[in-house]
Amino acid sequence: MKPPPTNRLLDAHERLIVHYNINRWHWTEDTGPLDICLGALLVQHTSWANVETALTRLREAGAHSIEALLKLSETEIGALILPAGMPVGKSRRLKVFAELVASHGGFEGLFDRPAVELRTLLLGTYGIGPETADVIVLYAAKHPGVVHDAYTARLCGRLGIGPGTNRYEDWRAWLEATLPYDLDYRRRNHAAIVVHCKELCRTKPLCNACPLRDICEYVSEVLDGAGK
Ligand code: SF4
Repeated sequence: MKPPPTNRLLDAHERLIVHYNINRWHWTEDTGPLDICLGALLVQHTSWANVETALTRLREAGAHSIEALLKLSETEIGALILPAGMPVGKSRRLKVFAELVASHGGFEGLFDRPAVELRTLLLGTYGIGPETADVIVLYAAKHPGVVHDAYTARLCGRLGIGPGTNRYEDWRAWLEATLPYDLDYRRRNHAAIVVHCKELCRTKPLCNACPLRDICEYVSEVLDGAGK
């Protein structure tokens, strides 16, 4: 029997952690806040491989620091991050973010702010939307926030759980109410969902190998319902 919907995400979490042996999140403990933030700012509409190429180019050009980004023009930054696409908008995004960090005396000063205040500040910064802000809050600032993204929507939609709307803030509130208030748990939960959606719960899911098959509405309603 399927567990109640409110607990299905927690059940899925436990199973996915074991299935994929996830004991860390996207980035390692050694990944600094600069890489996490630059990655979050650059990844929109491109692949992670392209982001890594852009980060490598910044490093090789000696532009991989807040101080260096402040000194470079947006045109110069745009040329370096070209592999990540949208150089005009993304270079402005990096420049404005560098100014935000510098205005707080560095990452420590910025991330010392309470999570709600930090999130509001990020959302008021050029080019930072809710998902990017929440990635920065959870992964770079190490506040136990939640991240909603397309992978979470896909998996929860198939499991038959969620707030019942498409609004980001509804999902965020639902995740906040559902997940334990624990930094490590929330980071691993997000990582597990991303990995699962890349490995098995793809656009065309590979349900036969899935550890969530018995709690998934997609299986009971779409596959089994179709007699597959
Ligand atoms: S059973 Fe299929 S649709 Fe459901 S979570 Fe697993 S892979 Fe996704």
